[in-house]
Amino acid sequence: MAGTVNETATWWAQTHANDGDVLVAYFSMEFGVDARLAIYSGGLGVLAGDHLKAAAELGVPLVAVGLFYRGGYFQQSVSEEGRQTERYQELYPEELGLAREPVDVEVDLGGEVVNAAVWRYDVGSVPLYLLDVPWVTDALYSGNREHRIRQELLLGVGGVRALHALGIHATVYHVNEGHAAFLAIERARTHVEAGASVDEAIDEIRRTTVFTTHTPVPAGNEVFDDDLVLRYVGDLARSAGISDDRLLDLGRTPGLDGFGLTPLALRLSVYRNGVSELHGDVAREMWQGIWPGEKTPIDAITNGVHLGTWLAPELDELLREAGVRPEAPPDWANWPAARELDPDALGRVHETLKRRLVEHASLDPERLTIGFARRFATYKRAGLVYSNLERLLALPVQIVVAGKAHPQDAPGKDVMQAIIELSRGAAAGRVVFLEDYDIDLARMIIPGCDIWLNTPQRPHEASGTSGMKAAVNGVLNLSVLDGWWAEAYDPAYGWAIDGGSDEDDAEQLYGLLEQQVVPRFEARDAWLDMMKSSIAELAPRFSMQRTVIEYADRYYVPAARSAA
Ligand SMILES: *Cc1c(COP(=O)(O)O)cnc(C)c1O
Repeated sequence: MAGTVNETATWWAQTHANDGDVLVAYFSMEFGVDARLAIYSGGLGVLAGDHLKAAAELGVPLVAVGLFYRGGYFQQSVSEEGRQTERYQELYPEELGLAREPVDVEVDLGGEVVNAAVWRYDVGSVPLYLLDVPWVTDALYSGNREHRIRQELLLGVGGVRALHALGIHATVYHVNEGHAAFLAIERARTHVEAGASVDEAIDEIRRTTVFTTHTPVPAGNEVFDDDLVLRYVGDLARSAGISDDRLLDLGRTPGLDGFGLTPLALRLSVYRNGVSELHGDVAREMWQGIWPGEKTPIDAITNGVHLGTWLAPELDELLREAGVRPEAPPDWANWPAARELDPDALGRVHETLKRRLVEHASLDPERLTIGFARRFATYKRAGLVYSNLERLLALPVQIVVAGKAHPQDAPGKDVMQAIIELSRGAAAGRVVFLEDYDIDLARMIIPGCDIWLNTPQRPHEASGTSGMKAAVNGVLNLSVLDGWWAEAYDPAYGWAIDGGSDEDDAEQLYGLLEQQVVPRFEARDAWLDMMKSSIAELAPRFSMQRTVIEYADRYYVPAARSAA
């Protein structure tokens, strides 16, 4: 395998060098590239950051566009009462290594014309361009609906103009979640301005747009009132030859009250996907109203994680000694060699990673350690494992918890507060809440756990990338069969909960912990064997390089080829 390719050339150079004029512009509301550049809130942003890193390693011609939020996303602390408190930081672009590009971008935001600065941050060979209008890009997911539409117009419309001003001629546009969907209207305008009819313009845009949807819950998809859309987007659309009625129709679908960015993006793209096989099924059902009587044309490309970011350095070193090269594309990396790892050496590496975590969290280094860290959205059911506290505390386990709730998510904050109270009271010494979850904390928590727990309400978890980060480090997943785990689960390296009512799922969870997880943990050799299976089987399948290769082969190259 390894000998047949010239590995000094990138994957792209070896497989698509002659595929002509491909340049992908990847648009996202959030990017999680580095903890200090705090312009992400959770999995969506980290995924976007990982996409750029993998694209850079593979040599995929790609540029990225986002927003520079002066206040970032909030920093979390916990009050005396166990309540989340939020503090917005002040991000200074120069200190973060951003370089100001010599262009200004003008965008009309509901009659107010703003001039955006454009900052550049290099992710290897991939440039990330971030637009900045301080009063608009004050913070990520801040403000009311009107503020949100301003931010999204700036991203979509300003982003297309920024690329133009920089002399970058993208041939494919990748809309990562609906927030950036307005870019299609601006592209239509430029085609019409250059002499195309509105229908020709829309056809051309559709053939060169990739849209990835991430949200299987209707309420999670961005929806605006018609009058807000007309006030902010009406003029732009009319200058593309799109009447008010036609514009509104692009965002409508039965059952949705208002103008949805997901329907807009679905209608203005040909390449559309959910982020796991199961999520593809859910998305097809959710959006079938857009294509009445037809099979809903939405596919799936399952997410991955960037191994260079998420594989613990100590484990990376051990794998290299065994002949695995984690930075290489999955087919070239020799993952089967991970099966031959010396169990004692793997055990020692894991012990080092675990010690770092339990010392930080003041927990017991011997005890089976369960991790649960992610945004506190209520569908994730962070409280499920505590529903029978007596039964939980009877087990020889301890739990590390972390995660932020959106500032306006009161129910999410209530769940968090209840867990923090437990960690200070009835479950003190057994449950620890670590404040201010971010990429750096995730990199410490995840590889230091023995078990990674995920108990979402099926099928609300579209993917669930933290479980992949665990799996590649040999941390065994115990998860509801939702998102990625529905296609990845195998008893060789983890445990599954069906995903039904809270009561049924809790019952299964306790049963698995009592009868399987704890006894297996005590049978050290069998446990180490599962760890090896997890690494060898799941690292190649859920590497972000595999994901980006799929986007390139299935979408980017065909889309560029069909460009006029
Ligand atoms: C990976 C990651 C997430 C996503 O976690 P899920 O369990 O998939 O929701 C969220 N936040 C941070 C900081 C991450 O690194």
